[in-house]
Amino acid sequence: MSSDTESGLYYPNRWVRIILIATEEIVGKNGVNALLNMGGLSHYIDNYPPDNMKKEVPFEHVSQLQQAYWDMYGPRGARAFAIRSGKKTFNDGLDSFGTAAKAARMAMKIGTLEKRIGLGLQFFAKFFNQVSDQQVAVTENENEYLWHLQVCPMCYGEESDSPLCYLAVGVLQGALENFADPKKHYRVTPIKCIAMGDEEGVISIDKDSILGELR
Ligand SMILES: [Zn+2]
Repeated sequence: MSSDTESGLYYPNRWVRIILIATEEIVGKNGVNALLNMGGLSHYIDNYPPDNMKKEVPFEHVSQLQQAYWDMYGPRGARAFAIRSGKKTFNDGLDSFGTAAKAARMAMKIGTLEKRIGLGLQFFAKFFNQVSDQQVAVTENENEYLWHLQVCPMCYGEESDSPLCYLAVGVLQGALENFADPKKHYRVTPIKCIAMGDEEGVISIDKDSILGELR
């Protein structure tokens, strides 16, 4: 096929479907169509990927969509927008997280909040690695959890002088709201991105914003 699928790396159909539906709920049908046109993805117009977990959407399409947010809304708009649709993607996708979400919830019933969040993130990383070709690892230090995007669909093949992977920021914020406290604001900040020439993407999750006075 075309250079579209050069990566040989794929995201599950359902996730891209959810991203598109979440996007549609924010910018409307015409907005999504415009984004898809702009990203060279017009074949998805009225033809979203099917609702299954088959790995069939090439990473290129995910990054072209991200890039289209950028081209259409500028950096600030694209960031805000990607975070919003990432959050929605997490919440709408919770069912598709299925057993991983259940396992994470179980694990997170015990221990301190800090331990529980750490474990929950590990579960999600493992889950992402299993059902998609995305590769994620989680580490932590005293002040933050670090979400390492070692193989990243969001900026695949892109070049940028600032991080692009705000969809992941939104997904992580959605996860934290779900598993910790929906009323809190979590500081989730991309600090490295493969599109910037970094070896891996890194998203920092500030522990103080989760644990606050609990620590
Ligand atoms: Zn990236």
